[in-house]
Amino acid sequence: MANRTLHMVSLGCPKNLVDSEVMLGSLLETGYRVIDDPAKAALILVNTCAFIDASKKESVDAILEMAAQKESGSCERLVVTGCLAQRYVDALRHEIPEVDLWVGTGEFQNIAALVAEPPADGVAVANPVYVYDSRVTRVNSRPAHSVYVKVSEGCGNPCTFCIIPKLRGDLRSRAISDIAAEVANLASRGMFEVNLIAQDLNAYGADRHDGTDLAKLLRAIARIDGVGWVRLHYLYPRPFPRDLLSAIAEEPRVAKYIDIPFQHISDRILRAMKRGRGEKFHRELVEKLRAAIPRVSLRTSLIVGFPGETDRDFERLYDFVEEMRFDHVGVFEYSPEEGTPAGTMRRQVPARVKAERRHRLLTLQRRLSRERLAAYVGREVDVLVDEVAEQARGRLESQAPEVDGHVVLRGSCRPGDLVRARIASSGDYDLSAEVVQILQPSRLASTSRTPATSAQIQLASRALPVIG
Ligand code: SF4
Repeated sequence: MANRTLHMVSLGCPKNLVDSEVMLGSLLETGYRVIDDPAKAALILVNTCAFIDASKKESVDAILEMAAQKESGSCERLVVTGCLAQRYVDALRHEIPEVDLWVGTGEFQNIAALVAEPPADGVAVANPVYVYDSRVTRVNSRPAHSVYVKVSEGCGNPCTFCIIPKLRGDLRSRAISDIAAEVANLASRGMFEVNLIAQDLNAYGADRHDGTDLAKLLRAIARIDGVGWVRLHYLYPRPFPRDLLSAIAEEPRVAKYIDIPFQHISDRILRAMKRGRGEKFHRELVEKLRAAIPRVSLRTSLIVGFPGETDRDFERLYDFVEEMRFDHVGVFEYSPEEGTPAGTMRRQVPARVKAERRHRLLTLQRRLSRERLAAYVGREVDVLVDEVAEQARGRLESQAPEVDGHVVLRGSCRPGDLVRARIASSGDYDLSAEVVQILQPSRLASTSRTPATSAQIQLASRALPVIG
């Protein structure tokens, strides 16, 4: 194609966003230029999500919206990648003939070659065995001071509600030295916060059988110049080894923040979900984390309306949230997925009941969050500045990007600055504060513009259920 302009739509979770950035890197290396207007792009790529109904619908809507560009715009080739392609290519390729190329989660690393010479049938779907490494060119589409780094791909857990192992394959972990090389490179470009992601972060290294584990990874990354916060996402609720607890507690650069999706608390439901452990273990784990890691912030995710969930099961979950007072909670309605054991379970819960239960839990968490944040008023805290637009906004160490609320800042500051700020007021999820001093100025080059900014990549960040 002579016209080497590219527009990308990236849907789903941060792990899928990293795949988008890897694909962008290889396409830019073959001469493509990212533009933000799909009407002017010769190549349009939609990287999809297919975790639950809502995300599948969003993906199909985005594909159809981009397919219209083949009629009215400059689009010569429409490519669909990601989980929807991996899961539904056989059906969708006939339903949406405007799509020229379907590339699954097992082939996205070959995107440049596939776009240059598409297979005759327009389909490249294989079992996923690949995980990127520090040698690939990855385009960072988010603000460069806060970056997601995927440390492993795939998952070996049997959660009965989850289709991910079928879409992403078995666990495969990168080497510590390789991840450290990527982090050092990102830190040299001004990154302050590294967000470690995986399907199941604390299974990291288990597949390598060489002593590689999360504790060693944290110790290695925490020593890299420029790294300010190392944040942990998607830790599966299993026993935390002593050295992992001490690495999180002792390393000053490891954020005292743990995202641990419990999904439920009732023994009966946890058994039906095949989560491996029951209520007693989950409650003791929260206590153990809070005892071992002073000031630790806990985020969890819960599913309501799992098949067979009774009022009594739900009240147990409600009491658990009220007692544990998590810093952040995501609540999702169970979505029956074909191809998962739970999808064919009897006693599916009516949609109305799911919605009521989700509403009750979110209302409870809003109150708990408001009470917790009110205690910040008058205190001085460290805030990482994310953006300075109409309003300056940043986050505390206890607030992850995109999901956990933020701090509205008054006073002079720049993206990537770490500032000391005095909290003036609090709300349900957000705070507002006055900048007192710049603790650590941003190391982002004032002129730094990634080859593809988030403005140019249509990032539809929808609040999808957190797996793990
Ligand atoms: S919910 Fe998470 S841990 Fe369970 S199978 Fe899915 S990706 Fe793996």
